[in-house]
Amino acid sequence: MSRILQSASERRAETHPLTWRLHDDQSPVLYDEYRKTEGYESVVKALSNYTPESLTDEVKEANLRGRGGAGFSAGFKWSLTMKGEGVPRGYVVCNADEMEPGTFKDRLLMEQQPHLLIEGMILSGFANRAKQGYIFLRGEYHLAAESIRRALADARANGWLGASVNGSGWDFDIALHTGAGRYICGEETALINSLEGKRANPRAKPPFPGQSGAWGLPTVVNNVETLCSVPGIINHGVAWFQNFSGGASADGGSKIFGVSGKVKNPGLWELPMGTTGREILERAGGMRDGLSLKSWLPGGGSTGFLLPEHLDLGIDFDTIGKAGSRMGTGLLTVVADNQSMVSLARNLEEFFARESCGWCTPCRDGLPWSVKILRALEAGEGEPGDIELLEQMTLDLGPGRTFCAHAPGAAMPLASAIHHFRDEFERGITRPKGEAHADPIPVGS
Ligand code: NAD
Repeated sequence: MSRILQSASERRAETHPLTWRLHDDQSPVLYDEYRKTEGYESVVKALSNYTPESLTDEVKEANLRGRGGAGFSAGFKWSLTMKGEGVPRGYVVCNADEMEPGTFKDRLLMEQQPHLLIEGMILSGFANRAKQGYIFLRGEYHLAAESIRRALADARANGWLGASVNGSGWDFDIALHTGAGRYICGEETALINSLEGKRANPRAKPPFPGQSGAWGLPTVVNNVETLCSVPGIINHGVAWFQNFSGGASADGGSKIFGVSGKVKNPGLWELPMGTTGREILERAGGMRDGLSLKSWLPGGGSTGFLLPEHLDLGIDFDTIGKAGSRMGTGLLTVVADNQSMVSLARNLEEFFARESCGWCTPCRDGLPWSVKILRALEAGEGEPGDIELLEQMTLDLGPGRTFCAHAPGAAMPLASAIHHFRDEFERGITRPKGEAHADPIPVGS
C-alpha cells in the first residue's frame, strides 16, 4: 500500500484537503465515516447553487492544473466540452492508469479514499453534462479496484449515483474499467480506444477528447488527483485554493509529493504547490547513510534529471519547466552519487521502448536503438559518435515528431542525463575494456 507520512493528528481539512480523512493504519475511509466528515457536501452545494457553466468557471478560476503530469488547466479543459442545448451528452473519464515510473500517489487516493474520487467525478460529470463516468484503472491495482467497487456500490445505494443524483433530476453513474497494464493506456486517446475495446493506439489531436472522444461524444479525461482536488474548491472556495501556497506558487492547491530512491524514508506527503525539493527530501530523512545526492527526477521517468543545486526551487509546473525539466507527477526519484547515469538512462529507455505502442516510426524504432547504444556504453563498448547519435535521437523523438507524448517523454531523461553527466557517457567509449562500471543497474530491473 502507498503511505502518506503525515500523521492523522497533523492533517486538517483546510491544509490537507486530499488526505485529512486518511487513517494511519491505511484502511479505506468507508461511506458512513466519509459522509459524516463533509463527504458529498460539495455535490449538494453544486447541484443546488451552480450550473454546469458556473461550476466550470469556478474550477477554471481556481487554477487547478492537471495532476497527471502535463499541468493543463482542468477548468479550461472542461470549458472546451460542447455543452449547449442539442449537443449529445458525453462522458467523463478518470485516468487512473497510473504507471509513470516512481509514481504511486493515485494508488493511495483510490485504495484509501475512493469516495473523494467519486465525489470529484460527480462534479466533473455535472459540469460537463455527462451521462456516464468511467474510471480507467491500471490492471495491477487490485486493492484500489476492490476499494472503488465497494465505494461505487455504497454511493449508488445512497443516491449519489444513478437516476436523479441526490434528487436533482440529473442522471449519472460511474463504471469501473480495469486496463491490462500498459503504460500507453494512460495517454488519453489511447485510453479512449482501449475503453472502446480497440487497440490502445493514440489518436491524432485535434479533435481533443472534449470535442470528440469516447464513441465520438464529448469526453473529458482527468487524472485521479485532479478530480480529488475539485471538492475542496467547492467546499472552501476559489480564493482558498488559489492562495493555498501562500505565494510560493502561482498554481492553486495542494499536491501529493513523494520520494523514492536511496533515501531513508520513502513516502508521500500532501504539501502546498511550490514546496521545495529540499523540504521534500528532508521529510524523507535525507539520503541513506554514506550516500550523497547526485541528481533527481522531479516527477517520474518522463521528466528531466535535475541537480542538487535545483533543490531550492519551489516545485510547480512553471518553475521546474524553466529549470529545463518538468514537474510531471511531483514524485521525486533520487539518484545517489554511486549510481551510474548511463545505467539509469538505459533502464528508463528500456521501459519506454517496451511500452511503445509501435504506431509511429521514431518511437517504435528509435527507442530500441537508443537502448542498444546505451547498453554498449554501459559495457564500455561504445564507439566515437554514439553520444552525438543519442543526442540527435532525443531531437528526433521530441515534441511534434510523434503521434503522442510517449517518445518526447522518453527523450527527456536521456537528453538531460547526457547534458548534465556527459563525462559518464564518454567513459563508456574511452573506458579500458573490462574495467568495472560504477553501480550498474541490472538489465530488465
Ligand atoms: P498534453 O500536454 O498533450 O495534454 C495534456 C492535456 O491537455 C490533455 O488532456 C489534452 O487533451 C489537453 N490539451 C492540451 N492542449 C489542448 C488544447 N489546445 N485544447 C484542448 N485540450 C488540450 O499531454 P498528454 O499527452 O495528455 O500527457 C503527457 C503527460 O502525461 C506527461 O506530462 C507525463 O508526465 C504524463 N504521464 C503521466 C502518467 C501517470 O501515470 N500519471 C503516465 C504517463 C504519462
